[in-house]
Amino acid sequence: MDLSYAPQEERFRAELRAWLQQNPPGPEPEQMGEWVAYGKAWQRRLYDAGWCGIAWPQAYGGRGATLIEQVIFQEEMARARTPMLINLAGLTMGGPVLITHGTEEQKRRYLKNILSAEEIWCQGFSEPNAGSDLAALKTRAVLDGDDFIVNGQKVWTSFARYADWCMLLVRTDPDAPKHKGITFLLADMHSPGVTVRPLRQISGDEDFNEVFFEEVRVPRRNVIGQINGGWEIAITTLMHERATLTFSRQLQSRVALTDLLAFTRNWRRYGRRASDDPIVRQQLAQAVIESEVIKYTAYRSLTKTLRGGVPGPEGSIEKLFWSEMYQRILETALAIEGPYAQLLKGSAHVPDEGRWPHLMLYSRGRTIAAGSSEIQRNIVAERVLGLPRGGK
Ligand SMILES: Cc1cc2nc3c(=O)[nH]c(=O)nc-3n(C[C@H](O)[C@H](O)[C@H](O)COP(=O)(O)OP(=O)(O)OC[C@H]3O[C@@H](n4cnc5c(N)ncnc54)[C@H](O)[C@@H]3O)c2cc1C
Repeated sequence: MDLSYAPQEERFRAELRAWLQQNPPGPEPEQMGEWVAYGKAWQRRLYDAGWCGIAWPQAYGGRGATLIEQVIFQEEMARARTPMLINLAGLTMGGPVLITHGTEEQKRRYLKNILSAEEIWCQGFSEPNAGSDLAALKTRAVLDGDDFIVNGQKVWTSFARYADWCMLLVRTDPDAPKHKGITFLLADMHSPGVTVRPLRQISGDEDFNEVFFEEVRVPRRNVIGQINGGWEIAITTLMHERATLTFSRQLQSRVALTDLLAFTRNWRRYGRRASDDPIVRQQLAQAVIESEVIKYTAYRSLTKTLRGGVPGPEGSIEKLFWSEMYQRILETALAIEGPYAQLLKGSAHVPDEGRWPHLMLYSRGRTIAAGSSEIQRNIVAERVLGLPRGGK
């Protein structure tokens, strides 16, 4: 692991930082529909200026730069506090999966539109009875001429309401062992027979959805990889979700921690600043230590990707530690606020515009999404440490 940057990488950083200063995204709208238009416009501006798909090949609309420059991009975006990119599933999972497993025709058809946010992607993996045990999925796809006919239900599909394409795992051979009869399809979300119903989360947001497929036709050319070979593609997708996505999230949690440190210096309780309380100081010091731990863990996992091309199961260490650490930071924030933590956004006298309780409620899902903490521990035990499988 080499933690220094080459001169051309520092030039890249300076150029991007200057661009971000001159092209701020502007305040994020509160209302979801408006946020979607805003998010698409912001990603389009980044794409037009050559800042999307930093490490993707130029032939498909990327910048053709290195993974290190991709990391610098994420660092600078976090530093400038820019909003989450709207096409997150396409940028962090769909695109990398297509680059590794897609045909030339698929790469040319989809990659550019992911980068420009012209087409938004979502991930249709989980089902009511297939989450941790993803290979238990039941959504069926049966070949009929040149099309698959898809029937079934997905759940917890983030941003499905605004998505144009769905990375859809379907069962194509019900008689094969459960990991062998799965195919990875790209389904057009505007197809007849697709119904999306939003689900409201504990935070009040509606990012989640249930998605129903009734006799939906998906052309055979939309298979990624081989028919019945979808499990391998699903694993590549999840490794990107655990490692690549966590890399940018740990940078965002550093921003949250910096803000929390500032908050404790201003927030007064028991007649003194919260930051003067020895217990609070100890909790904050612990948070800073953990934040450093995740930074170096993320860099170590990145080094492995630089050497091996795709992230490995070590991404589970990063995902597990980051998601639990983030909740601890937010629990500290709520403890500091005391009874005020019960006030939500918009209430009178709410500290820091109700930011900390909202983030805390939102963060509960982080130890579940992309595989729960228990599942990450199993992966680390079996696939990283090589321990025997549990319960056998
Ligand atoms: C914020 C968020 C966003 C999401 N976005 C998407 C999305 O866009 N697309 C998508 O497809 N899915 C998405 N999901 C779904 C997510 O992948 C699943 O919730 C997750 O895989 C867990 O599955 P489950 O909810 O069915 O829980 P279950 O699998 O039913 O698990 C219930 C509990 O049992 C435990 N458990 C299960 N099996 C084991 C085991 N073998 N050993 C030990 N403990 C076990 C789990 O850890 C958990 O605590 C999202 C979830 C969240 C929270």
